[in-house]
Amino acid sequence: MPVNIPNNKFTGGELKREQHIAGRTELLATPFSTFERNVRDQMNRTLGAGGFDAARDIAGIAVNRWPHGYAPEYNSLIDPDEGLPLATARERRGAIAIANADSGGGAYTDIAIDQAHRAVTELLSEVLV
Ligand SMILES: Cc1cc2nc3c(=O)[nH]c(=O)nc-3n(C[C@H](O)[C@H](O)[C@H](O)COP(=O)(O)OP(=O)(O)OC[C@H]3O[C@@H](n4cnc5c(N)ncnc54)[C@H](O)[C@@H]3O)c2cc1C
Repeated sequence: MPVNIPNNKFTGGELKREQHIAGRTELLATPFSTFERNVRDQMNRTLGAGGFDAARDIAGIAVNRWPHGYAPEYNSLIDPDEGLPLATARERRGAIAIANADSGGGAYTDIAIDQAHRAVTELLSEVLV
């Protein structure tokens, strides 16, 4: 049975973007041996009373070092209105227009659809005229 163990970094008191950087740094700097030890320890403590034994019952551990699973979102209270990386990243390059949720700054399907509409409209109005 596969078990998925995500990890969210909360350092407290810092801006969200700073917490993302701290989490990403820790994720990339942590050796596999630490992940393995922590997973075995956590699962033994959680499931041990029910008979689980990490040494016997874990067949393998894979660590996916994805620093995020969602498109990054911005906070209008603290992030600037202009100059955000997504504005640069979605600039059209010749006949290539950039869609996807990342280019809209939101981790939702409607954002991806809106950005796809924008990208196609850019091509229709600026390239395919
Ligand atoms: C666990 C989870 C739950 C979610 N729940 C919701 C929800 O309830 N409601 C909601 O609105 N949103 C939800 N989302 C977010 C939503 O799925 C994304 O915002 C949306 O799918 C983003 O669309 P996209 O087109 O930008 O990227 P994607 O859907 O990731 O599409 C990118 C595509 O590009 C392909 N690709 C990548 N590299 C290459 C390459 N080199 N060549 C060719 N193809 C490539 C990939 O295979 C993929 O098919 C969820 C996301 C996750 C991860």
